[in-house]
Amino acid sequence: MLVLHRDSFCQMEAWLECWSHRLGKLTSPCRGFALATMAHHIVPTRANGPHFDLENGLGVCKACHDWWTATWEPKIYPLRLR
Ligand SMILES: [Zn+2]
Repeated sequence: MLVLHRDSFCQMEAWLECWSHRLGKLTSPCRGFALATMAHHIVPTRANGPHFDLENGLGVCKACHDWWTATWEPKIYPLRLR
């Protein structure tokens, strides 16, 4: 997967820095030390985020992906925003 070629390590911690003005200081589950094993969509595909765009992709570990998807994504992209 292309995103995982670019991002060897989980990028969630670095990415949270970009959101700190909006979400406050957050710490990702792995703190950036886990290997990226999944391609995470920054804008979810159900909110019309592009599926194969590298700009919309972030290499993350599973712990961060599950944490983000369960905790923050519903707040930022409510389900009704299909
Ligand atoms: Zn992680």
